[in-house]
Amino acid sequence: MIDPFGRAITYLRVSVTDRCDLRCTYCMSDDMKFLPKAELLTLEELDRLCGAFIRLGTNKIRITGGEPLVRRDVQQLFAALGRRLGAGGLRELTLTTNGTTLAQHAEMLAGCGVKRVNVSLDTLNPAKFTAITRRGKIEKTLDGIFAAKAAGLAVKINAVALKGFNEDEISPMLAWCGEHGFDLCLIETMPMGAIEEDRTDQYLPLSLVRSRLRKTWTLDDTDYRTGGPARYYNVAETGQRVGFITPMTHNFCESCNRVRLTCTGTLYMCLGQDDAADFRGLLRNGIDDAGLDAAIHAAIARKPKGHDFIIDRDHQGPAVARHMSVTGG
Ligand code: SAM
Ligand code: SF4
Repeated sequence: MIDPFGRAITYLRVSVTDRCDLRCTYCMSDDMKFLPKAELLTLEELDRLCGAFIRLGTNKIRITGGEPLVRRDVQQLFAALGRRLGAGGLRELTLTTNGTTLAQHAEMLAGCGVKRVNVSLDTLNPAKFTAITRRGKIEKTLDGIFAAKAAGLAVKINAVALKGFNEDEISPMLAWCGEHGFDLCLIETMPMGAIEEDRTDQYLPLSLVRSRLRKTWTLDDTDYRTGGPARYYNVAETGQRVGFITPMTHNFCESCNRVRLTCTGTLYMCLGQDDAADFRGLLRNGIDDAGLDAAIHAAIARKPKGHDFIIDRDHQGPAVARHMSVTGG
């Protein structure tokens, strides 16, 4: 699948639920209204759509949310997609999770062929963790992280860099990740969906974080890529990597290889734009595989050039109305 700007679309991110057991302040409002369950694609519908994308050249799928591991019977989807790995055409199956129930799922994930997980952890301080997630207990996420490691999964820690919240923790987190063999990926906060906080107050440019880290750490250039938008450096002192996802300070759209499917079967061709294609209606009206393939091609042909995220005093509202938990980041 090649989009109008010549980019090969090989990566599908699938949000399997909009629900979450946490309410991270930069991601959700405190009183989020979640979708009625009837609006969600069934696990069979999700697997069928993933199968169509794989048939058309998708080789990497990331399961996300909301919190993907709170979706009932999600293991059935991992098992079904796991069968598509290898000769089935899929090269990598992975997920992004807040880790709260990862301890119960780590062995299952490894058994389904998952090799890597991204776990979101913005702080190592228990009280700050509860504050930023509005309800979480850090022990559960840490248990999940170490269960994943014990199950043989490579763990990458995702942390959103937030001004005045975790700026002073980034260097200690890099050390902690190095000690335990995890890569760390830092993310700039993006203006998606209405939240209670002022995003101008939260926004911390990663260019600043990187130059601060360089005072303590040797960050060597590498062309390591995971198929995502992060720019990685080898951390000489730890042997692990640190990645920077900089949608605000450096627009990564020119190399975008992905599209995003929501749990209701809406395909967003760009994280930062509103145009979307509905697949639930097509699936429930009995579309055949040829029709499904044609609809996917038609959607890819509408993929826009890029997003227009801006955060400053004149642009405090969201660039798109939907929250990150709808499309899963
Ligand atoms: N619940 C899972 C988790 O937290 O890992 C998966 C979904 S979550 C929406 C995916 C990632 O998006 C997380 O790493 C989270 O920190 C990040 N995220 C959420 N809202 C964001 C925002 N407004 N800007 C930047 N990253 C955001
Ligand atoms: Fe939930 Fe993930 Fe959003 Fe936090 S970032 S509220 S864990 S979906």
